[in-house]
Amino acid sequence: MASRSTGFNSGLDIGKSYYVATANPAPDHPALAGDVEADLVVVGGGCTGLSAALHAAERGLKVVLLEGGKIGWGASGRNGGQMIPGLRKGARGLVKTFGPERAKALFDLAFEARGLVLDIIERHGIECDLRQTGHLVGAVGASDVRDFEDEAECLAKVMKFTDVEILSASQARQKVDTPYQGAVFEPLGGHMHPLNYTLGLARAASAAGVTIHENSVAIRLEREPSIRVFTGKGSVRARHVVLAGDALLQGLEPRVNSRIMPVGNYIVATEPLGERNVIPANVAVSDTLFVVNYYRMSADGRLLFGGGERYTPSPPADIAGFVRPHMEKTFPQLKGCRIDHAWGGLVSVTTSRLPHVGHYGEVYFAHGYSGKGAILSTLSGKLLAEAITGDASRLDLFSTLTPLPFPGGTALRGPLYVLGMLWYAMRDRLRH
Ligand SMILES: Cc1cc2nc3c(=O)[nH]c(=O)nc-3n(C[C@H](O)[C@H](O)[C@H](O)COP(=O)(O)OP(=O)(O)OC[C@H]3O[C@@H](n4cnc5c(N)ncnc54)[C@H](O)[C@@H]3O)c2cc1C
Repeated sequence: MASRSTGFNSGLDIGKSYYVATANPAPDHPALAGDVEADLVVVGGGCTGLSAALHAAERGLKVVLLEGGKIGWGASGRNGGQMIPGLRKGARGLVKTFGPERAKALFDLAFEARGLVLDIIERHGIECDLRQTGHLVGAVGASDVRDFEDEAECLAKVMKFTDVEILSASQARQKVDTPYQGAVFEPLGGHMHPLNYTLGLARAASAAGVTIHENSVAIRLEREPSIRVFTGKGSVRARHVVLAGDALLQGLEPRVNSRIMPVGNYIVATEPLGERNVIPANVAVSDTLFVVNYYRMSADGRLLFGGGERYTPSPPADIAGFVRPHMEKTFPQLKGCRIDHAWGGLVSVTTSRLPHVGHYGEVYFAHGYSGKGAILSTLSGKLLAEAITGDASRLDLFSTLTPLPFPGGTALRGPLYVLGMLWYAMRDRLRH
């Protein structure tokens, strides 16, 4: 693969990702040059955009996709690779907000993401270190275990879903070598190499007829008399547009932007740990802290550990030094171990931690997965394609999740949000 460095959103061009170092070979896609026409223009070459493009092309649409950097440049190629079924908000939260019937419909729909991603991986032969070993949430406090029990009861009663196990502290310790108070284990979770999955999705989209342009930043969206998206060197006129830029979209459509907030999140990959493997069950793990720690083993035996958030636009100068204390607090036995890769990305969060999905006329969008979009993004892209090709029923259901805008709008959301987050981060420090 050619260099993945790009001038687009160059603030992200920081650190060296383990994923880039271990990426499968992939073709370069030329930048857009000149004016072209299509049925659908997609902005964003992450899993949302690629999935929308793939599914629309499979339904017979002529699709052009514009990616400002390289395929997988955003969160889809940088994330923790944790495949966690469902939404960020738990079953009880959904029932409280939407009532039992709609909550179950939303839960069932969100759950489809898992099967869809597995099916795409198999159908298109995507090599992405898929491990269907489950996902474990470790309880930092004793009250978290009671919370897991209440949540499991609601899952069973309302969602008719029983694929969760509550683990005691010692059962949890058999799966991951850190002293949690207990855990909830979801056997249907897992992990994968997210950049290789995203590159595989791009390959599948190309094979289905999608024209992909990299290094093609969409700088202006014209809605009248018809949809037209401009880059610095050309334009795409189309009947519909999908905005799938997530945290990186910036000002292209203000109505979409006001409901998400970009938060910097950072990951390290240690040296291969060999005998010092800290996750014997090879599960994906996260914990109950508000500023969540999440981690897993890579296919070559490294610990990939994400921890710590930053609410300022600039990344820490020393990402490894920023994440290391979180890692060593969880695993003191790894104190001083070598860190080979450290990188970051932007998570787009919403006020409700539920995604913002829908459309304004022919302008379709999906984003704001709040840290749980590695597989949900592929589903959202499919729902967008369904709606664009005539069946909006499932997109309409998902769009009932629409979160409130951030108080203070795009100008003030930053400072107000930071205050709130710092309060929760301080509570984490008192608990942990
Ligand atoms: C560090 C980190 C760790 C995470 N860990 C997990 C995890 O373990 N599990 C999980 O479920 N979720 C995780 N997430 C969240 C998950 O990665 C995202 O929700 C998901 O990848 C979003 O996919 P997307 O396609 O919507 O956006 P992205 O993958 O960000 O793709 C958007 C693309 O649009 C492009 N773009 C933006 N604006 C323009 C423009 N104007 N013109 C052209 N192109 C543009 C960008 O370059 C980018 O490639 C994590 C996120 C981060 C940042």
